[in-house]
Amino acid sequence: MEKKDNEFFMHKAIELSRRASIIEKTGGVFGAVVVKDGEIIGEGYNQVIKNNDPTWHAEMHAIREACKKLGTPHLTGCVLYSSAECCPMCLATAYWAHIDKIYYGATTGDALKYGDFQDIDILDEIRKDPKDRRIKFTELLRPDAVKVWQEFAKMPDRARY
Ligand SMILES: [Zn+2]
Repeated sequence: MEKKDNEFFMHKAIELSRRASIIEKTGGVFGAVVVKDGEIIGEGYNQVIKNNDPTWHAEMHAIREACKKLGTPHLTGCVLYSSAECCPMCLATAYWAHIDKIYYGATTGDALKYGDFQDIDILDEIRKDPKDRRIKFTELLRPDAVKVWQEFAKMPDRARY
């Protein structure tokens, strides 16, 4: 049996990136796997083009599959292997999912150089003052929105995660 070490899992993520970009042409050069206790419990590859879904990144797909398999939104004790450095959305998702550790292959610089992927620009946007961002970000009807929060805060059985 093949030894399942970090490189084994990264090879798997890289294989999936080839599937997405060159074999099935579903999206960019991105593949990912989620591993728990030495076993793959979720895998994914970029399908943004195939599904017309801007959120269908390899990591999102792998994390979704792993969460479904474990029956929890939390992947504590899990490791994410991604063929490329996570974009801000996938990195945020890894935090929401409580992923322990991330290994990545290609850097965002590689993705920019060979694929013209503009993740770096998104990071710049996030760092800006909201009023200076390209997408206008404006507070609206806060009192009405907060009313629901206030009701939620009083619920003894409210969702916690
Ligand atoms: Zn992503």
